[in-house]
Amino acid sequence: MSPKPQRLTTASNRFRALHKRWRHEHPCSRYGLMLIRLDQSHAVSESMGEEFNALMIQHLGVRIGHALRNEDRLEYLGDHCFGALVVLSNGEQGLVRVAAKLLSEIRQPVRIAGCVASTTASIGLSSCPADGDNLDALLGRAAVALERAQHGGGDHFELFDRSLGERLRRSWDMSARLWRAYEWSEFTVAYQPIVDATSSRICGTEALLRWQDPALGPQSPSEFVPQLEQSGLIVPIGEWMLRTASGQMRTLQHAGMAALSVAVNVSPRQFDESNLAERVRASLRETQFPPEQLQLEITENMLIRDPDTARDTINSLATMGVRVYIDDFGTGHSSISYLRKLPVAGIKIDQSFVSGLPHDESSTNITRTIIGLAQNMRLEIVAEGVETAEQARFLSDHGVQHLQGFLFSQALPLGELIELLRKPLPTY
Ligand code: C2E
Ligand code: CA
Ligand code: CA
Repeated sequence: MSPKPQRLTTASNRFRALHKRWRHEHPCSRYGLMLIRLDQSHAVSESMGEEFNALMIQHLGVRIGHALRNEDRLEYLGDHCFGALVVLSNGEQGLVRVAAKLLSEIRQPVRIAGCVASTTASIGLSSCPADGDNLDALLGRAAVALERAQHGGGDHFELFDRSLGERLRRSWDMSARLWRAYEWSEFTVAYQPIVDATSSRICGTEALLRWQDPALGPQSPSEFVPQLEQSGLIVPIGEWMLRTASGQMRTLQHAGMAALSVAVNVSPRQFDESNLAERVRASLRETQFPPEQLQLEITENMLIRDPDTARDTINSLATMGVRVYIDDFGTGHSSISYLRKLPVAGIKIDQSFVSGLPHDESSTNITRTIIGLAQNMRLEIVAEGVETAEQARFLSDHGVQHLQGFLFSQALPLGELIELLRKPLPTY
């Protein structure tokens, strides 16, 4: 049984009045409209009776109302269908989050006078201004999305904009899997060796986050790290990473292995939100790892967004003895004017430049310029993504002290890193 879009477009005058009042109270530029239709309501009323069904709709209405925020509005439109108006503070992503929450709330069984019943819902979503700027347009489009959700078998939401819906759903699924991965401790740390170009010995490592989804296998950090960043999970996971990497390197040292430095990536959100210097201090205290052996990798863009705070954070870290490196150097906003004023220890030449060495003219020119600039500013240089002996030779001939890349090793679990430390490395 699918609702007729026409019937919903000419929704009850009550909803129209509610919308008008609400827009007056909340003249926000972006909001979402949801049509929430209970899937098995007809079956419930046949098996449990009309009266039970009416009470169930009432119960679910209260539950949905509680799941929305104070500024949102809900109205029963009839025919087992609710309409909701939702303020969009962080875009359609927020609308998707609310829809997923509502589906899960509605799925919980309802108990009425000793009887238990459960149902699911289908939700159609449209948003203003993307799908229209008046109630009729938004209702019509949400109704189209609702029909699609119902055709999908129910317990499902759809956005009017199909491709946006697909993108947001994928990102939502990934986000839910990441929360579970965090709760179930599915993340691990892998260490990629950094080699001293003069001695050809491993002098440090970069700690890289790894996640093996139990059902889907290893996942790529380039895909899931941005999602961790978006959900804010990067803050606790980044802190865990810092403690784990420092703690494991400390253990290695205790076991009589070489004193390796470790580089940990810091995400924009961690850098901005979490009082980074204090957290680093606490982690070093807890793990008893020497600050001089810790490197933090940030990107150029982080320096530029809020230069004053960035300067304070980097100053505090440097005072502690922690070395800050600029990762992917040359790929972001030019930060040279800021870099001159900051106690940054070094830069990492991005693999996109290294991969063209030594034959591609523009790569060699850029790499030479970056090296000259860093030497001029007395910055240490690490080249990453070194895959061939030719690249390693070019870099070390031009004065790069530290090399990192598949030529030497991929990122390895701690046990394999320990084995590698006992073996000679490939020469170039
Ligand atoms: P990144 O910081 O630039 O890390 C270097 C990436 O290059 C790693 O990919 C590494 O495996 C890869 N790589 C190393 N050597 C070579 C090589 O010779 N050739 C090629 N083609 N690639 C090489 P990975 O581990 O997939 O990580 C991707 C990105 O994910 C990282 O880029 C970093 O931005 C992010 N990331 C990883 N771990 C963390 C973390 O703990 N925290 C944060 N904030 N970001 C992380
Ligand atoms: Ca890095
Ligand atoms: Ca990098």
